[in-house]
Amino acid sequence: MGYIDLRSDTVTLPTPAMREAMAAAELGDDVFREDPTVNRLQERAAEVLGQEAGLLVTSGTQGNLVSLLAQSHPGDEVILEADSHVYNNEVAGLSRVAGLIPRPLPGDHGVFTGKQVEEALRPPNVHFPRTRVVCLENTHNAAGGTVLSLAQQREITTVAAEHGLRIHVDGARIYNAAVALGVPASALTEGVDSLTFCLSKGLSCPVGSVVVGSQAFIEEARRARKLLGGGMRQAGIIAAAGLIALDTMINRLAKDHDTARLLAKEVDGLPGLEVDLDSVQSNIVLFDVEGLGTTSAEFAAELHERGLGVTTKGASLVRCVTHRGIEVEHIEVAIEILEAALASRTHSS
Ligand SMILES: *Cc1c(COP(=O)(O)O)cnc(C)c1O
Repeated sequence: MGYIDLRSDTVTLPTPAMREAMAAAELGDDVFREDPTVNRLQERAAEVLGQEAGLLVTSGTQGNLVSLLAQSHPGDEVILEADSHVYNNEVAGLSRVAGLIPRPLPGDHGVFTGKQVEEALRPPNVHFPRTRVVCLENTHNAAGGTVLSLAQQREITTVAAEHGLRIHVDGARIYNAAVALGVPASALTEGVDSLTFCLSKGLSCPVGSVVVGSQAFIEEARRARKLLGGGMRQAGIIAAAGLIALDTMINRLAKDHDTARLLAKEVDGLPGLEVDLDSVQSNIVLFDVEGLGTTSAEFAAELHERGLGVTTKGASLVRCVTHRGIEVEHIEVAIEILEAALASRTHSS
């Protein structure tokens, strides 16, 4: 068996069906809105998520920024989770490009409550920024792929509606959330003004994300996308793979959740490694190597030498992501590699 790559679900390659669809895609100039394949993908994405309209963007990062730009004014405040991707992993685009001030709230497994939002609200006062948008993340990447439930989301959207706040969902892995909850993805946009999802992660497309929301929002988002240099021409090449993904790649995500669960249980049984099994809700597994007296970076380098790719989060957490290229057999070999790495540590110390 070759290198086992658990670094990310972004390493997935397009399927043969996607390649064929890309080669055969009907194309036009999408800045003129004349690419039929892009138009079909945008309509289909909107339909799947129960929204009026969609917009193809280059990446999840661009989708989040476009969504914020379209719904705020410079100087406005955005409430988001302290460990969220928008706050930590998007090069401060919300401040640098959109001129927004972030208000990070600490979450439990990546989730803050409606009460926390209420307490963070600023009364109208000449001194204060205006709180404009609440940003949610589902599933939550840094918390280990944790899922925001419908009840938790409703609590927050209710508070937001009472106070005239917009809700944006960073749904890079929204279909993982839907599959984990056993609900249609459209249920996860209830009370939400905008949502971005990635085609390029577990759905296996080579590139692209889609933003969905109301027709009026999408018109503004289209301007914001142009501002960011995201107006593409024969983008149907990308969209063709996206259509295949929406039709055939969502339900199979359940398999990635099963392999993640299997990996988590096995790792939890290994000496010196700790897993918070409660946080393993979709296709991401975080485990703690502190008990080994080493750092996550050092341990990850050792695993890489042995043929297992992982990433790290902070000084002690190792992160594994399952995806279409990972079968039960790969998990078994990954565990063997982990066991061998642990055994060699015991011998050398
Ligand atoms: C991957 C990811 C993004 C960004 O997507 P890119 O396509 O890599 O820009 C945003 N949010 C979350 C939660 C992600 O996991």
